[in-house]
Amino acid sequence: MSFKLPELDYKYDALEPHFDALTMEIHHTKHHAAYTNNFNNAVKEAGIDNLSAEEIFQNVSKYSAAVRNNGGGYYNHCLFWKNLTPNGEGKPTGELFKAIEDNFGSFDKFKEIFSAAAATRFGSGWAWLIKQGDKLLVTSTPNQDNPIMDVVDEKERGTILLALDVWEHAYYLKFQNRRPDYINSFWNVVDWKEVNNRFKK
Ligand code: MN
Repeated sequence: MSFKLPELDYKYDALEPHFDALTMEIHHTKHHAAYTNNFNNAVKEAGIDNLSAEEIFQNVSKYSAAVRNNGGGYYNHCLFWKNLTPNGEGKPTGELFKAIEDNFGSFDKFKEIFSAAAATRFGSGWAWLIKQGDKLLVTSTPNQDNPIMDVVDEKERGTILLALDVWEHAYYLKFQNRRPDYINSFWNVVDWKEVNNRFKK
């Protein structure tokens, strides 16, 4: 089995003016491509190229840093591109909207909590909305870790519904040090239909 860099469902400039075309292109063709290549090399080296990424992450503590870092880098970006869209609707509908209200008080409160998790992640990492049993949680992880890896505290593990990359490479060209402005822009391009699909699985 070999992991493939996915095509995006939209053009690099499709998320303008919220996310800029040059950042999107470099992020996909350089950063994500490198994680994908390096992950393929690392799983071959470890003799686990017969396993899925999810299977690897369940036991990722047993493998090399190269498997963990590049595996997360490969997988997290696949999720991230999919939960972005040029046709952002601003908020979810139906059961997902209700579940967010039930878990966080209101949709605005959820956005505030998620934005704070993304803004305060020190250094590089990700912010997540996850489903854990019938609960929704906002978490964040450092580097390329994610909530399905066994290295993450059990209390912060679950099914990933929404992902936000807060590495500087995701925003520095357009926003420089202003990570909160990048996070505000993110809300305009979230694909709530995709988040809803993950929620219903
Ligand atoms: Mn990234």
